[in-house]
Formats: sequence, C-alpha cells, structure tokens
Amino acid sequence: MKFLLLLGLFLLIGYCWRSLRSAPARVAAPAAGAAPEPAPAPTMLRCLHCGVHLPPADAITGHAGVYCSEAHRAIRER
Ligand SMILES: [Zn+2]
Repeated sequence: MKFLLLLGLFLLIGYCWRSLRSAPARVAAPAAGAAPEPAPAPTMLRCLHCGVHLPPADAITGHAGVYCSEAHRAIRER
C-alpha cells in the first residue's frame, strides 16, 4: 500500500514538473516566431576584392561591382 502511495506521489510530481516546464514554452513560442518577421535580414553584398560580406549601405560601387572600402576599389579598378 505504501508503494502505491509513493508511486502516485511520484506520478503527480512528474505531471506537475512537465506542465510547469511546458507552460513557459507555450507562452514564448508566439514571441519567438513573431520576432524574425518585423526585422528581415538585409541582403548582404560581397566585396569583389577581399570577399567580405557587407550591407548595401556600406558598399562602395565600382565599375565591375561593389567593394568594402575605397582602397579595395582603387586596387581592383586602377
Ligand atoms: Zn574588400
């Protein structure tokens, strides 16, 4: 009889533990899914000389393509 009581207690603790662990995940799931939507990653450009990836706002446009700096544009297009 004592064994059944202990088994029931362990099952109850296990059920409470699982419901407590899954409750925050259900609340956090919509927030985690909604976070990437408002801020999509900008398209990255690749420097023609060194290959570094950079956002279009920082790119320097040359005749053959885009560069990460004026120095790299000068090296490739002189
Ligand atoms: Zn470069």
